[in-house]
Amino acid sequence: MSDTAPAYYYPNRMGRVILMAMEEIMGRNGINAALNLASLSSLIDNYPPPNSDLEFSFETISSLQAALEDAYGPRGGRGFALRIGRTCFKYGMREFGTQMGLTEMAFRLLPLSTKLRIGGNAFAELFNKHTDQQVRFEISEDELYWHIDRCPLCWGRHVDQPACHLAVGLLQESLYWLSGGKQFDVEEVQCIAHGDPSCTIVIGRTPLS
Ligand SMILES: [Zn+2]
Repeated sequence: MSDTAPAYYYPNRMGRVILMAMEEIMGRNGINAALNLASLSSLIDNYPPPNSDLEFSFETISSLQAALEDAYGPRGGRGFALRIGRTCFKYGMREFGTQMGLTEMAFRLLPLSTKLRIGGNAFAELFNKHTDQQVRFEISEDELYWHIDRCPLCWGRHVDQPACHLAVGLLQESLYWLSGGKQFDVEEVQCIAHGDPSCTIVIGRTPLS
């Protein structure tokens, strides 16, 4: 990257959420091995503080994703990333749920279609306002679209298949929570690291179960 290229960041508390989720899913030894593999050994036992300073770089986030695939192969790495993404939702709601207004009873009682619209927009706004990630949330008759126009998960990578599995897991769990326990079809169909203009995740509006 040249000196003039912009650097993009997550707030520390969001980087901390990712690392805590990785540790829960992979165990202490597993995350330490991944951090070593990603040349991020400085983060071992030294997670960022839970503050809003924009210091957790997109390079760090994408290196962590690549390390999962290096350590466990494409399939194994994908499985871990999905589970880590789902766990990120749990920790993320503790950090950001109240601020997004999604934990109030009035919201919980809305019909599902309304909750999907309000929840999707609030979620996109959280990233757009508080991180350097850029998201567009769209709704059609049958589907929801989560377009990540600037994506930390695949930042600087080149991949054969869409690789932003953590975002898929995060959306799966947020939909499960929003719907009170339903599963949805969630698939990343485009990825910037695959040469596409955005990382686009398509969600069927009708629950699978
Ligand atoms: Zn991506």
